[in-house]
Amino acid sequence: MVTHKNHDDVHTFFVEVALFQAVHDNFDYQITSNVPVFSLNEGEASSSSVYTAHQSSINESFNVNHRLIGRRVLVPVGRTDKVGVIVDIKHTSTFRNVKLVNEVLDPVFSYADIQIIKKICAFYNCSLPEFFSVIIPKKLKEAKFLPSNEVFYEASLFSKLTPPNLSRAKLQKNAFELILHSQHGLARKLLLKKYNISAQTIQSLLNKSLIQQKQTIVENKSDVLTKDDLLKESGLALTCEQSTALEVLLSTEGYACSLLFGVTGSGKTEVFLQWCEQILLKQQSVLILVPEINLSPQTLSRFFNRFNAPIHIYHSDVSDKIRGELWHGIGCEPSIIIGTRSAVLLPIKNLGAIILDEEHDGSFKQSSGKVRYSARDIALFRANAYRIPVLLASATPSLESYKNAKEGKYQLLQMKHRANAALPKVHLIKNESKDSLIDVQLQEIIHQTLGAQQQVLIFINQRGYSPKIICYHCKHIEQCKRCDAALSFHQLDKNEEQQEGMKPNRYLACHHCGCVNNVPKICGKCNSSEIFPLGYGTQRIEADLKMCFPNTEIFRIDRDNVSTKTKRADLAEKIKETTPKLLIGTQMLAKGHDFSSVGSVIILNTDGVLYSSNFKAQESAAQLMFQVSGRAGRRFGMSSHVYIQTMNQDVPILQSIAHHDYEKVLQLLLGDREATCMPPFSHLVLLRSNHAREQVVFGFLNQIKQNMECMLVNYKIEDVDVYGPIPDLISKKNAVHHMSLVFKSRSRGRVIEMLRCCRQYMIQEKLNAKFSWSFDYNPVDF
Ligand code: ADP
Ligand code: ZN
Ligand code: ZN
Repeated sequence: MVTHKNHDDVHTFFVEVALFQAVHDNFDYQITSNVPVFSLNEGEASSSSVYTAHQSSINESFNVNHRLIGRRVLVPVGRTDKVGVIVDIKHTSTFRNVKLVNEVLDPVFSYADIQIIKKICAFYNCSLPEFFSVIIPKKLKEAKFLPSNEVFYEASLFSKLTPPNLSRAKLQKNAFELILHSQHGLARKLLLKKYNISAQTIQSLLNKSLIQQKQTIVENKSDVLTKDDLLKESGLALTCEQSTALEVLLSTEGYACSLLFGVTGSGKTEVFLQWCEQILLKQQSVLILVPEINLSPQTLSRFFNRFNAPIHIYHSDVSDKIRGELWHGIGCEPSIIIGTRSAVLLPIKNLGAIILDEEHDGSFKQSSGKVRYSARDIALFRANAYRIPVLLASATPSLESYKNAKEGKYQLLQMKHRANAALPKVHLIKNESKDSLIDVQLQEIIHQTLGAQQQVLIFINQRGYSPKIICYHCKHIEQCKRCDAALSFHQLDKNEEQQEGMKPNRYLACHHCGCVNNVPKICGKCNSSEIFPLGYGTQRIEADLKMCFPNTEIFRIDRDNVSTKTKRADLAEKIKETTPKLLIGTQMLAKGHDFSSVGSVIILNTDGVLYSSNFKAQESAAQLMFQVSGRAGRRFGMSSHVYIQTMNQDVPILQSIAHHDYEKVLQLLLGDREATCMPPFSHLVLLRSNHAREQVVFGFLNQIKQNMECMLVNYKIEDVDVYGPIPDLISKKNAVHHMSLVFKSRSRGRVIEMLRCCRQYMIQEKLNAKFSWSFDYNPVDF
């Protein structure tokens, strides 16, 4: 590579850079041919060469420059240097005092990726930097992080065509020959450490274009992956429903979204596995998104047991280093990538399909921070842009996806039967006791199940001993001082005291800010000493069960008890043992675990969950009950039962659950949503804000509202409603007040347009930086 130091030769142009930190716009920078570039073309040599665009005409150079889009750069911002990514190339810039790019770093995104990201940002009304700040892992935000993916060198084509004469440079000759005779190239590390070749020697060879860099070593590149190479074990013989679903998936070409709506245990995972097999054999990779990796070790092991192909795992517990590496592109080899929502944009070469398992799950939605994206939306964007199929799967699909499937926008694939077991029998039961949720009837059921050498799983959606403590005299309920919520009462038994370490044996905790208080001896209001726990949580159920079943093993599975990874793993091991035992837990139980010996599932106190002011309360309660029920009787030949405790057995949703008819639940809920014009029949976006002082948030949101209302009138826009500011369901959290302004319309385009104006107004009035705010598109909790 040639270095031109002559000033007349220097060619400059402009690049638009999006930083990796949440600023509200992109900046222009200038690039000259003197800017160091880290290996411009893939496989091209040089870790700090010099950009040589000046030799080509402007058009040609723009072609080359295209490859600059998606590369990280180091640029000056104020007095420091920051990392960002090039998102556009320009002939001119409207910026004054355009600064120079310090250094062009490694490529992260392709040109196509950047175009998709621009669309996503337009959809969520955020700037690219705001989006990157959320999605890019820490390592990539740090300057000059190079993939520790080893760097390999191979002889360049040039050197093969014209063998060099290095007789006067012994060290270089030696090194060159080593590299030339290596079969797949040589690792830099090896050259430096084992062969004692200096970095300078390598650099000289690079400068002479005698060797070039390879990103990874790919053995026998020309060999295609065959079925025998790929499979460690062969797939199961599919049921009728499974093969119908698979056939449809295999026959889709280009972009198509399918919804696999299959009851728990219908063998959805087996369908994924066999679909993946076919995609890998087409020499493509598959991205599988799951709600929470930790909760589905069984699913992971099924992939590891089946395939020889590389399987990458990406989620928040994976080290920064590995996450950084995966963002440097997952190689050309067909691979499987299993990750949580933030994996949705991982650059993957040759991506052949995307699967979202448990597509209804709320954790696909980023529910805090500036950009509250939904991995489901983004997966669809991405699949659409790449013209590849996407599969959404669930036993309890979201209303949105089901509606889209019914309207023919998605292909609906249904599986109504379990693959190798019968569905449990569901019973709706009343609590006949005033003193305990575990009444005589339930005690008998538990007794019988244990007697049949099976396990009992008891679900209650509340951790702690009781959600409140109440004064018998004045009915005062002890509240958190920093939140607008009751304090819940926790009471540990002796063994647990040690485990939890710091906490006292009995305490009051706030489930919103996490503060821990002593249990008062007297009522905070009337000084009466008659204060009692009100309601039930997992600890209280555990205490009751210990009394009734003193000789049975009891495990409690909730956030207080299973807070660390090791504890979780221990518990998973314990659960696997098939001896009769009692398992008590919160929704942590509902997900993923394949309890094979559970004969009875008991869902306590469901009335509370079904009625809450959250518009999605019924939907999530129904999903939860279905998922929990699905834990029963997953073993072949086992008959199993689910008992749902309720005071209102006639509630249509419960009736549908009793008949395993989630489709009916969907229809009921869709009917309600249509009548109230709520999503998915409308598009709902919150402008969320918060402040320590209530009047301040209110004032800010109200100002926006008035401005937006004026705009609606001026432009005669009739199909958007703006209302609020309304406080959040828990309006005060940790001494901060949370409120929202609500935008609602039947037209998606309209809402997005409104939000764009809203954002512009905030930036123009400098409200943007003064307040903390975010848009929440289709909120989960409202
Ligand atoms: P889902 O993901 O729908 O809950 P899974 O794929 O986990 O269902 O399957 C549930 C159980 O059924 C698993 O134990 C699995 O091994 C078994 N299974 C799935 N498909 C078949 C099949 N075609 N033949 C026999 N067993 C199957
Ligand atoms: Zn009192
Ligand atoms: Zn609190």
